[in-house]
Amino acid sequence: MVRLSAQWIVPITTPPIHNGVIEIVESRLAYVGPKTQQYSNETEELSNAIIVPGFINAHTHLDLSWMSDLRDEGGDLVAWLSRIVERRRGLDDAQIRQRIVESARQGVTECLGSGVTMVGDISRSCGITRAELKNGPLRVVSFGEMVGIGTRRGALDGLLTEAGDRRFDSEFLRSAVSPHAPYSIDADGARKVVEYARLNHLPISMHLAESVEEIQFLQTGQGRFREFLEQLGAWDESIVPAGLTPVRWADELNLLGPDCLIAHGNYVDAEEIDLLCASGTSVAFCPRAHAFFRHAPYPLLSYLGGGVNMCVGTDSLACCPTLSVLDELREVHRRFPELSPELVLTMGTINGARALGSAHLVGSLEAGKRADFAVFTPAEHSNPNTPESPEEALLDGPWKLGRLYVNGLRVR
Ligand SMILES: [Zn+2]
Repeated sequence: MVRLSAQWIVPITTPPIHNGVIEIVESRLAYVGPKTQQYSNETEELSNAIIVPGFINAHTHLDLSWMSDLRDEGGDLVAWLSRIVERRRGLDDAQIRQRIVESARQGVTECLGSGVTMVGDISRSCGITRAELKNGPLRVVSFGEMVGIGTRRGALDGLLTEAGDRRFDSEFLRSAVSPHAPYSIDADGARKVVEYARLNHLPISMHLAESVEEIQFLQTGQGRFREFLEQLGAWDESIVPAGLTPVRWADELNLLGPDCLIAHGNYVDAEEIDLLCASGTSVAFCPRAHAFFRHAPYPLLSYLGGGVNMCVGTDSLACCPTLSVLDELREVHRRFPELSPELVLTMGTINGARALGSAHLVGSLEAGKRADFAVFTPAEHSNPNTPESPEEALLDGPWKLGRLYVNGLRVR
C-alpha cells in the first residue's frame, strides 16, 4: 500500500480535493479523498504538489519521431506527406526497422517525461512497434495503419492481417485498426476494415476531414491528392469520386460509432457534427499540428456545443515539437480562453480514455481504477502559494512533472 497526500488532487470526474490523499493498493486506486484521520497515517507528504490522472494522448505516431527535422520544412500537408514517403524510400528494411524501434523508444521517453501514461498510437509498421511497446509502462492502443487505393489496393490484405494480429496484446497494449485516410484507402477497403474491426472488437481510428484538399479529392477525384497519388504511381481508373464530404462518406461506410476515433476533423459542417455526436464517435483535436499546417480556425466550440467527445492528440514529432498533452492543453487554453480550465483538462484525460475505449480503467482518479497518475510540482525558481484553482495553475504554468505512476508503480 502507498499513500500520498498533496495540496491538490484533481480527480477530473469530481471536484478537486484540497489537502487530499490518494491510496494505492497494488495496481489500483483504493482511496481518493480528503485527508481524514483514517487516511493520515503512513502518508507521504508531497506538500505543494498537484496530482492529476496520467494524461492521454489520443492521436500520435511514435514511429515518426525520427522525422522531426520535417518540422523545419513548412506546413504544406501534401508536400509534407510526400517527404515522409521519400524519406522511407531511401532506406532498406533493416534501416527502417532500426529507426522505428528508436523512434518508439524516444516517443515513450517523451511521453512519460511529460506525464502521459496512455497513447493512441498510429503505426504503419505495427508488428515492429507492438513488439517494442507491449511490456509498458506506457499504455498503448496500437492502431495498425492501412492503405489500399488504386494500384495499391492489393496491399490492404497483408496490412489488415498485421494490424489485426493480437499476439502482442497485454496489460499495456491493445491492438486496433486504422484505415489511414480517404485519399489513401478506398471505400471498399475501408468497409472491409470496418467489418473486420467490428467482428473482432477492435477500436478504429481514421484521419478524416483534415484538409480542404481531402474534401476536394472525395468530392471530385481531383486536386493535389490526385497529383500525389499519380506521383506515387498509385492512381488508376478504379478510383472514383464519392461525391461526399469526409464525415458523410465515413457515415456511409458505417465507420462511425462509439468505438471510432476521428483524428483532426478540421473541416466539418453542423450536420456532420450531428452525425459524429449521434453515432458516439470521438474526435481528437491536435492543436499544434493544426497550427503547423495552417488550417482554418478549428470548430472546437461547435463540437463541444454539439456534445461530441473531444480529446487531444499531439500527432507526430514530424509536425509537433513535443509529445506533451499538457503542452496541447495549454495551447487549447490559450486559443479558447472562454473554455473553463476544468473542461480543457477533461480533453487530455477522461475524454481521451473514452475515445480509446478505456474510461473504465483510466482517465480519472477514482477508487477501483488503475493507479495511473502524475504529480506536478512548482517549477524551480518559482514558489507559488497554494493556487486557488489547480486546473488553472497547471494550464498557466509554471509547473513541472515531479513523479509519474502507472499501474501503481512509480515510473518517473
Ligand atoms: Zn496523424
